[in-house]
Amino acid sequence: MSSQHGAPPPELPQLAPTEHRLPKDSVHYRPGKKERRCGNCTAFQPELRGCSRVAGEIEPPMVCDQWSSLKHVHRLR
Ligand code: SF4
Repeated sequence: MSSQHGAPPPELPQLAPTEHRLPKDSVHYRPGKKERRCGNCTAFQPELRGCSRVAGEIEPPMVCDQWSSLKHVHRLR
């Protein structure tokens, strides 16, 4: 067994523990429409296929009641 793996893995963002995030049922997790989807949401964590607000595996084409536009954030910067 070798312990040499070269460079350390890049750091991934961390999500809050599942119990600190909302269950999908409570936020009506469902298929998204047009721009209103997880892939365009400020809470989506694509590297983890997760969300900072909602627990469980999150798919980019879906959406929930907690959606907030990533485009809006970029306009503010
Ligand atoms: S739409 Fe809901 S589930 Fe999807 S990333 Fe945003 S907050 Fe999370």
